[in-house]
Amino acid sequence: MPVEKDENSKAPKPEHFGSSFVTLFLFLFLFHFFVAPAFRPRANEVLYSQFLKEVKDGKVGRALVGEEQIQYTLKSDLSKMQSTQEDNSTPPKTYVTRPIAGDTALSQLLAEKNVEFGAPPPDNSGVLTTLLGWIVPPLIFLGIWGWMLNRAQAGSGTALTVGKSKARIYSEGNTGVTFADVAGIDEAEEELQEIVEFLKNSDKYTRVGAKIPKGVLLVGAPGTGKTLLAKAVAGEAVVPFFSISGSEFIELFVGVGAARVRDMFKQAKQQAPCIVFIDELDALGKSRGGAGNLMGGNDEREQTLNQLLTEMDGFEANTGVIILAATNRPEVLDPALRRPGRFDRQIVVDRPDKLGREAILKVHIQKVELAADVDLGAIAARTPGFAGADLANLVNEAALLAARQNREAVTMADFNEAVERVIAGLEKKSRVLNEMEKKTVAYHEAGHAIVGTLMPGAGKVEKISIVPRGIGALGYTLQLPEEDRFLMAEDEIRGRIATLLAGRSAEEIVLGKISTGASDDIQKATDLAERTVTLYGMSQKLGPIALEKMQQQFLDGFSNPRRPISPKVTEEIDGEVKQLLDRAHQTALKILETNRSVLEEMTQQLLQKEILEGEQLRQYLEQVRSPEELAAWLNTGNYYLSTS
Ligand code: ADP
Repeated sequence: MPVEKDENSKAPKPEHFGSSFVTLFLFLFLFHFFVAPAFRPRANEVLYSQFLKEVKDGKVGRALVGEEQIQYTLKSDLSKMQSTQEDNSTPPKTYVTRPIAGDTALSQLLAEKNVEFGAPPPDNSGVLTTLLGWIVPPLIFLGIWGWMLNRAQAGSGTALTVGKSKARIYSEGNTGVTFADVAGIDEAEEELQEIVEFLKNSDKYTRVGAKIPKGVLLVGAPGTGKTLLAKAVAGEAVVPFFSISGSEFIELFVGVGAARVRDMFKQAKQQAPCIVFIDELDALGKSRGGAGNLMGGNDEREQTLNQLLTEMDGFEANTGVIILAATNRPEVLDPALRRPGRFDRQIVVDRPDKLGREAILKVHIQKVELAADVDLGAIAARTPGFAGADLANLVNEAALLAARQNREAVTMADFNEAVERVIAGLEKKSRVLNEMEKKTVAYHEAGHAIVGTLMPGAGKVEKISIVPRGIGALGYTLQLPEEDRFLMAEDEIRGRIATLLAGRSAEEIVLGKISTGASDDIQKATDLAERTVTLYGMSQKLGPIALEKMQQQFLDGFSNPRRPISPKVTEEIDGEVKQLLDRAHQTALKILETNRSVLEEMTQQLLQKEILEGEQLRQYLEQVRSPEELAAWLNTGNYYLSTS
């Protein structure tokens, strides 16, 4: 496990700072309002008229006459204190009254009545009050500020660490990953071996005047192992590994991201030689001046990108800092990023082929107890299109299945179930279908299987099931290719569309009415037909012309925007797509009519057993005959084009 140190954790924690202010503030507050008054002399307040009366009656012994108040003691209380002689420290009872402004005759009266009188000593408690008046408000402010600081830190941990790079630092050589943990992407690995060599023996290169590359861009679909490769480079070269995601640079405030980039490079230079890994580079490196600007601009991202470009230019080639970045959308990156001296090397990290998948499985089963029947080659064959992360997930799913049943080892059946789980989703036995629905699903799936068997390039039908799975799938037909395919020929596309429409076709033929169950098939068939025309240039009428802008090479399921085209061409596209779909539909109907009896038998069997696979399925599928027109239909187009 890599020892991960969070950069932020180094900063002194401001919690104590904030809470000590709060405590001090509370103390002063309590002292001022509750403790201090307890020590002030207590006095009984009387009306001025009563005071005057008592003076005139000769009862007052002593008086301290201030501007705002008069404190006085009665003769009786004074003499009581002198006679008892007990404890001089207990003061005699004092009365207080407020003088009336302009009463100048008072001192005369007091003198006449032999009252000892004078001015009161200066009021020290007033000094304290004034002092508190000046100190307490700022303290309240500081207290609240400290408290908010505390909360902000405890919450996101980001609000006040403006400009600090959030790059996580893996301690030296301890990413815990080496090239032994990476499999199935040998070409990318070989390219990166060179980077390891640069880091380990930089002298060799600098001596002959060669410049070590500064930036390497890893391009590939999600989960193909880009992060893993970057960690492996750091692990092999035994250098520190800084990792940050492109999106972490982008903040609400303009300039924060740029400050983070600066800070990250500063840290990296201090630790050189090292690897800085920026994941999801596209989040910060999107082409400047794009459509985003029309929507009010994206100054923050642009400034951050500019800073990155400047920093990459700014450091010397041979400082030993190598920036590795990963993206699955290379086409949106700003061209300036790929200029020599920045990310001038691009390494494509592909999805693995069959041998690659087997190698990746070998890496991931190391800690898993396997039963004797597990054949990794067979699993690799069943998982075309799976990336490294999918395979890692698959092994884990299989292990979980075995553990759930308290078995000691993971069997081939666990792996097969795990593959289906990943492809089609979890079984949903709780979803109970009524008889009619079950029948519809069974005919639908048998239809897919029969047409799929006759079509080129799609592989063998391996399993048909009418157990609901995943989101919305009421049944499924598992068709696995015998080998990895990188191109699809035109007839194979036609076949694929016909297979997709075969479920609906079977419902039509046998039940005489159609259901909503085919919506997903129709969606996929239409997408494929449209791409055939607009992207692959396979329409004879429109010819090899690109009508879509290819934008997503590595992310599946993204639709590309159309090029600017005239309404007439749009109409022609629609016509071509419709024709393709209609013909495929007709062909599926024809095939199913030709094989009506097999369709019937298979469906009955499926209704009984719910799942058809292996030898039994093969026996049915062997009986499937192709109608005479099929070969002609498949070859209607006379050319083949790549669909990679
Ligand atoms: P990416 O960065 O390309 O999205 P990751 O490197 O994060 O993918 O891969 C996620 C996980 O998938 C890895 O931690 C690893 O367990 C597994 N994995 C991916 N590719 C490979 C590979 N080529 N060899 C072994 N394991 C892999």
